[in-house]
Amino acid sequence: SLNLRVPVTLPNGVTYEQPTGLFINGEFVPSRQHKTFEVINPSTEEEITHVYEAREDDVDVAVAAAKEAFDNGWSQSNPEDRARGLFKLADLIEEHAETLAGIESLDNGKSLLCSRADVALVSKYLRSCGGWADKLYGDVIDTGKDYFSYSVREPLGVCGQIIPWNFPLLMWSWKVGPALATGNTVVLKPAEATPLSALYACQLVQEAGIPRGVVNILPGFGKIVGERLCTHPNVKKIAFTGSTATGRHIMKSAADTIKKVTLELGGKSPNIVFSDADLDKAVKSIAFGIFYNSGEVCCAGSRVYVQDTVYDEVLEKFKEYTESLVVGDPFQKDVFQGAQTSQMQLDKILDYVKIGTNEGARVVAGGERKGDKGYFIKPTIFADVSEDMRIVKEEIFGPIVTVSKFSTVDEVVSAANDSVYGLAAGIHTKDVNKAINVSKRIKAGTIWINTYNDFHQNVPFGGFNSSGIGREMGAAALDNYTQTKSVRMSI
Ligand code: NAD
Repeated sequence: SLNLRVPVTLPNGVTYEQPTGLFINGEFVPSRQHKTFEVINPSTEEEITHVYEAREDDVDVAVAAAKEAFDNGWSQSNPEDRARGLFKLADLIEEHAETLAGIESLDNGKSLLCSRADVALVSKYLRSCGGWADKLYGDVIDTGKDYFSYSVREPLGVCGQIIPWNFPLLMWSWKVGPALATGNTVVLKPAEATPLSALYACQLVQEAGIPRGVVNILPGFGKIVGERLCTHPNVKKIAFTGSTATGRHIMKSAADTIKKVTLELGGKSPNIVFSDADLDKAVKSIAFGIFYNSGEVCCAGSRVYVQDTVYDEVLEKFKEYTESLVVGDPFQKDVFQGAQTSQMQLDKILDYVKIGTNEGARVVAGGERKGDKGYFIKPTIFADVSEDMRIVKEEIFGPIVTVSKFSTVDEVVSAANDSVYGLAAGIHTKDVNKAINVSKRIKAGTIWINTYNDFHQNVPFGGFNSSGIGREMGAAALDNYTQTKSVRMSI
C-alpha cells in the first residue's frame, strides 16, 4: 500500500514530502477501498506519484466530519478566531510559496512565472477573506413603532466544492477562503489531474490552527466523488468551477436536494483593439490575455478583434511578439509558457488547429506541437477567420487565438456579444468615453480596459449567460456562502 507521505524532488533540486492521503477530519488517511491513481508530470509525461482515490464511502465519512465540525464549533465560532485562522494560513502560504509554486508547475505544467503569481494571489485572497470574517453585517429594518425587525447572515452548512486543474491552488483558495470566513465547513474535490497542491496546503490548514473537520479534501473523479457531493443530503451547497457541460449536469444532480449552486464556467472572451490604442501595449496585453497560463484560463481573451485601419500592423506586431515568447520546461528561467496539463488537452487543442485550418483560417504563428515529449504547443494565431467558424465559437482552452477585422463600434459590439458565454472582455483604446460606452454594451461579468487577465482579490469575478452563476472574490463571494435570517419581534 501507498505511504501517506512520499518524498518528491522538484526539478530545481528541492525535495519535499507530498501527502498522498485523503484529508478528513484533520488527518491524512488512505481511502477506504485503498484505491490509488497516478499523477503525471505534463512536462515529461512521467509519473510524479500516486495518491489515494476517494469513493462514495469516503465522501460520506468526510461529509459527516464536516457536519460535526459545522454543528459543534465552526458555525458558532468567534469571527475573530476565523479571521486569525485565515490570516495565519495566508502567512503560511507565503512562507511555503516557493515549494507550492514548484508543486504547481510540476503537477499542472504551468511556468514558474504563472505559479508564483498564483501563490501570491492565494495568500492575498485568504488574507482578504480573513478581513471579512468579522465584518458580516445584517440590517435593522424600520417596520413601525410596534415591531423590532432585523436580519442577520448565517452560514449554509457543509459546502461541496469541485475545482478544475488549470489553477489548482488558486481555485482551492477561492473556494475555501470565503466559505471559512463565513462559518461554513467544506469538502473539496480537486481535479483528478492536479491534486498535489491542495493536499500540501491542508498541512498548512492544520498548522494555522483551523479546527479539524472544517476543511476536508478528497482527491478523486468527478463521476464518483463529485456526483456524490452533488446528491448528498447533508451537503447544503455546491460551488463548482469547470466546464459548462459539467456545470449543467451538476445543477441537475443538485436539484433533488435543492442545494444552492454557484458555477464558474467556460468562456470565449472577446479582446478588442481600437485604432486609437497604444498599439505596442495592446499587443502585449492581447498576447498575455490568451497565452498566459498556456491558454488554460476560463476568461482567456481567445477572440481578438482589431479595427481595420490598424489590422495589418497589429497582426504583424502580434506575430512577432508571440514568436518571441519562450515555450518549454516550466522550471527554466525566462519560460513564459509551460506545458498543457494533460494528454487529453493536448489532443483536443491540436484537433482544433486542424479544424481551424480545414475551415479556411490562416495560421499566422505556431500551429503545432513543440517537441515530442511533454504536452507543449506553440502559441498559435489564426487570422482571416469568419464569425461562424468553430474556432471562433467554441472554447478551446489552450494557446490558440483567432483574430478578426472590424470597422465600426456597432459591428464589434455585436460580434463580441455573439456568444453563449459572457465571462470577460477586453477593450484597448485611449478614448475614455469609448471605453466606458463599449464596456456598458458588452455582456460579460468582467471588462478589462487596457489590460487583461488582471485580477484583484477584492474585485468580483464571474460570468453572464452560460459562463456561470454567482461571483467569487470581493464582498460578492460572501453572498455565495451566507443566507439571510430575518427576525421580527412585536414590542
Ligand atoms: P470539468 O468540468 O471536466 O471538470 C471540473 C471538475 O469537475 C473536476 O474536478 C472534475 O472531476 C469534476 N467533475 C467532472 N464531472 C463531474 C460530475 N459529473 N459531477 C461532479 N463533478 C464532476 O472541466 P475541466 O475540463 O477539468 O476544466 C476546464 C473547464 O473549466 C473549461 O471549460 C474552463 O473554461 C472551465 N473553467 C472555468 C473557470 C471559471 O472561473 N469560470 C475557471 C477555470 C476553469
